[in-house]
Amino acid sequence: MTATRALPKLDADNRAFWTGGAEGKLLLMRCQDCKSFIHPPRPVCRNCMSENVAPEAVAGTGTVYSYTVNYQKWHPAMEVPFVIARVAIDGAPGVLLTSNIVGCPVDAVDIGNSVRVKFEQQGDVYIPLFEKIS
Ligand SMILES: [Zn+2]
Repeated sequence: MTATRALPKLDADNRAFWTGGAEGKLLLMRCQDCKSFIHPPRPVCRNCMSENVAPEAVAGTGTVYSYTVNYQKWHPAMEVPFVIARVAIDGAPGVLLTSNIVGCPVDAVDIGNSVRVKFEQQGDVYIPLFEKIS
């Protein structure tokens, strides 16, 4: 298999986020005390400093908050152009996931588009990508 992107190094904090796709779930770390979502995942809540945090599944839908189109071939196996977007995740106030919008031409993407997660498996990692909900 040829890796087409840099893969994250899994650790105790981020493992749920990067492997939840094996079960089709987008898992975000959430403080069990104040209920804030914590992304990128960390072992301590940024809001209340609680260490009582655990991954929780969210719906996996969201809205394109902002985006840009990348034309630069940073890696030989990289297919360009592609969209890099920040996606506001439904049910997780304050969480903006940086990802790609896939499955449509780059000029079909706009701010405010509704999107749904789609996982791309690369070894042990399931990368959360997003596609437009038509
Ligand atoms: Zn908290």
